Amino acid sequence: MSKQTHAFQAEVAQLLHLVTHALYSNQEIFLRELVSNASDACDKLRFEALNNTALYEDAPDLQVRLSFDKAAKTLTITDNGIGMTAQEAIDHLGTIAKSGTKDFMSKLSGDQKSDAQLIGQFGVGFYSGFIVADKITVESRRAGAPAAEGVRWISGGTGDFEVEAIHRAERGTSVILHLREDALDYANTWKLKEIVGKYSDHISLPILMEKEEWKDGDLIDPSNEEAGRQPGGMVKTGEWDTINQASALWTRAKKDITDEQYADFYKQISRDFEAPLTWTHNRVEGSTEYTQLLYIPSKAPQDLWNRDKKAGIKLYVKRVFIMDDAEALMPSYLRFVKGVVDSADLPLNVSRELLQESRDVKAIREGNTRRVLSMLEDLAKHDKSPEATDGVTDVLSEEDKAKLGQYTQFYAEFGAVLKEGLGEDFGNKDRLAKLLRFASTTSDTALVSLADYKARMKEGQDAMYYITADTLAAAENSPQLEVFKKKGIEVLLMTDRVDEWALNFLHDFDGTPLQSVAKGAVDLGKLQDEAEKKATEEAAENFKPLLAKLKEALKDKAEDVRVTSRLVDSPACLVVTDDGMSMQLARMLKQAGQQAPESKPVLEVNPEHALVKKLDGSVHFHDLAHILFDQALLAEGGLPADPAAYVKRVNALLS
Ligand code: ADP
Repeated sequence: MSKQTHAFQAEVAQLLHLVTHALYSNQEIFLRELVSNASDACDKLRFEALNNTALYEDAPDLQVRLSFDKAAKTLTITDNGIGMTAQEAIDHLGTIAKSGTKDFMSKLSGDQKSDAQLIGQFGVGFYSGFIVADKITVESRRAGAPAAEGVRWISGGTGDFEVEAIHRAERGTSVILHLREDALDYANTWKLKEIVGKYSDHISLPILMEKEEWKDGDLIDPSNEEAGRQPGGMVKTGEWDTINQASALWTRAKKDITDEQYADFYKQISRDFEAPLTWTHNRVEGSTEYTQLLYIPSKAPQDLWNRDKKAGIKLYVKRVFIMDDAEALMPSYLRFVKGVVDSADLPLNVSRELLQESRDVKAIREGNTRRVLSMLEDLAKHDKSPEATDGVTDVLSEEDKAKLGQYTQFYAEFGAVLKEGLGEDFGNKDRLAKLLRFASTTSDTALVSLADYKARMKEGQDAMYYITADTLAAAENSPQLEVFKKKGIEVLLMTDRVDEWALNFLHDFDGTPLQSVAKGAVDLGKLQDEAEKKATEEAAENFKPLLAKLKEALKDKAEDVRVTSRLVDSPACLVVTDDGMSMQLARMLKQAGQQAPESKPVLEVNPEHALVKKLDGSVHFHDLAHILFDQALLAEGGLPADPAAYVKRVNALLS
């Protein structure tokens, strides 16, 4: 193949510009990214070689080598991993295959620090070389391919790149960075060692650097040896030293790993720039043996809500990397957990399909789930805001102090995903229910747990009440809450999209039923005294003729019309029948383009309200009836079926 010039895909060119500009404040990460690519390439070789040992050629020891040439101003990262064919170099280093990239571009804020974090998450690793280089040469040969099929890729990091065929005896890839004038510092043994120690210590592959030795120069005075020699400087010796620990972090004993090392490892595997919230590291023994190192991130990723998002667990079998995103190892509602599972029992050639069926995998998934739930329970147990401890935190151990508020932080980021577990993981429903937190009419700031709620239920209260709505304001101001407010009964305010669905799976908590205040007739049971009950019954009797008229007028809109004791200030509200789907859920389904069962709500009227009292005998009865209905719909966040007709009716009455 003679030399060819290719244009970068438009996104790459744009990205390159961003990478070189936005990441400038955190230059040194380029090395982490390139070493990580080299390590991935070795993992890939090891994996392919499971079925084809010939790929190792005659160099089975996988490694990464760093070298620099001060005079030529180059820094080279070489691996003997899988390598690339010419076509792969064109495809992988010229385009961005990842679908999330466009999304990523739109999220950049212009703020260098946060943009730098985003870039890391989206995996634009190779291009980070251009932070320190104004030209990159990549030379590579695919494992198993003849030496004549090597490739050289060169680019100045702007619009295009060149590719040509070369002869390359060694398998694998060399990335040669032609350092910018202001990045010449990186051509320095100590500097490189320091960065490797910081970011790549745990890479399970040895990272080698050529040893340097101090050499004396020429004699100062050739006629007088006593006068000594000129300083000669550092000279390469031709010997190579391993500069990282080169043992997979999770294989080391817990006591030998510092928190900082755990956090660095997390950053490496998750591409997150922030430290994790917490982690758990265990060797599990028994019928299935495996090591798990699981992290909970401190911030939700951009694509948390992507239903196709894969789990964040890397699977290793006896230290050999098998696959990323092993979704079979973690239930979908814990998809935010990142980490590594290293199994001693699975076969090395395990496929995704096989994973789905394996009993060992099932045991590992259950073990992982239990561990994550324990971690969360531990955070929740210690999650006391300083107010809750009356500001007295000095009685707590250092470890507990560090956990203050962590569960709150976790829940704000991932609580909504956790709720999916109610429908997904019946076996752990009780544990999950204890981990839930909700806004409440009783607490302005802190979220409350179901246990908190239950503990302060009123004498005679036999259900835990909740309301679902699109926003907190809509929930708080819902007419359905009026009688609960009047009687000082706490109601949980649920505003996550998933609440409605998730609550379908949670009928009670610790033996006490959960009851939506917007479903069915309100039955406050013992919370209502005899006089109140009697008044409602009497009103129902007296209002019979009026209710019949209303029912007739609204027959296309309402399933039924009845009087209620749940309202105090509002004239009317809408509720669904006990087994009906809440109106909020029906609206959500419709918005998502799905079919919602057509069920009409029940209109409940407040017999004490002046407007309702005035209805009977009014010449505007028909209009008032419709206004009553449409206003009830508006009050709970819905829209009248015919907004123009509603406005017309109101205006007619106003004038
Ligand atoms: P990512 O590593 O997240 O896929 P990069 O931009 O870092 O993104 O790399 C793009 C692709 O280029 C990689 O997926 C891989 O296929 C290829 N690549 C990069 N570096 C190497 C290497 N040292 N050896 C083999 N392939 C590589």
